[in-house]
Amino acid sequence: MPRYVSDDEEPLDDKTAALTLRNKRTERMKRKDATRQQKRDAIVNLTKLPTELILEGLRYLEPSDVFNCSFVNRRFLSLVNANANVIGDAIITRRYHILAQCFPKPKLLDDVEPHLQALLTDPNRQTQLSIHKRPYQHIQPPDAQELCTCLTCILTWNNLGLVLDFAHWQPHLDTGEPIPIIARGTVPEWNTELVARNARIARRAVENSLWYARILEAHLDSTRRSISRHGKNKGNKRIHVAMTEADAESGTDSFLAKHGPPSIEFPYQRDEYYMLEAYLPNRWWKKVEGRWVYNIAGHHERDLELVQRLASRDQFALLNHAMACIDHDNWMTDVLDFKTYMVASKRDASTSRRPRLKYYAAVV
Ligand SMILES: [Zn+2]
Repeated sequence: MPRYVSDDEEPLDDKTAALTLRNKRTERMKRKDATRQQKRDAIVNLTKLPTELILEGLRYLEPSDVFNCSFVNRRFLSLVNANANVIGDAIITRRYHILAQCFPKPKLLDDVEPHLQALLTDPNRQTQLSIHKRPYQHIQPPDAQELCTCLTCILTWNNLGLVLDFAHWQPHLDTGEPIPIIARGTVPEWNTELVARNARIARRAVENSLWYARILEAHLDSTRRSISRHGKNKGNKRIHVAMTEADAESGTDSFLAKHGPPSIEFPYQRDEYYMLEAYLPNRWWKKVEGRWVYNIAGHHERDLELVQRLASRDQFALLNHAMACIDHDNWMTDVLDFKTYMVASKRDASTSRRPRLKYYAAVV
């Protein structure tokens, strides 16, 4: 750039430039740098791998490690986000085949046919459902505007929330520190935040396989820790789930295919966590075949059919109950599902001594 000293003087032409260094020492340093760079380039590291290979590798990790990998740099983050479903599905098939059948995801409302969406979100129906959607202290109810609220989907949603809450209290259960008791009628902020956070994770998992896999990973960890806690408790004479050290370290749920106690009861409150060993709902042991049978497939479709059928009736009640058959060795061998429709009598109110009722109450 020409510089002007004053108006009278000629502009100065600035010719300063870096001197070319050329001596033996600089030449030697340049050569050294070049060799160093060559060595650096020869080292294969993860970030230099092509995308396909990275993706292939991520399938073998645990979901939490995949999330950790995604924090390495922007490229990894966008790679993991863009392929979350593919990676998540592969990990679930490889590691959480059993847990995925015990804890299926609720369906999205958008995936339900439009005329059924209107029936599901009908305010009257939502009021009637309150028996199933009662606000638990440890689980946030599903959002009826986003998720299917057929009975099956409410139960599967509740199970995801439960898994996350149970995982949160594992350190307390391991160390014997009591889980804080919430006094009746009080709503502590920490609890509101915890259940809201769990609901956010579960909601994300509904559409994202990697997040879903992460929840299953958390439950495998809780199950492993619970089994080993109860195994050490000599006073507890219940039959425990058989778990070897290799099983515990395997990072997969395959050992849960072994014979074990059934999970019939949903843990309605945190008090039940102390005795909860392996909560693996939606399956029963078929003694004759010596294997677990997973029984929730098709329930969402069947419930939607019911919603549709029942909506065309004025007065109805539905009894929905399951009976577990327990054999002499105290193993559940069968589960019988009963759905009983109660339709109001067609008798005219004037000729009947009993007044016509608006609804029957379903005792579940
Ligand atoms: Zn559903």
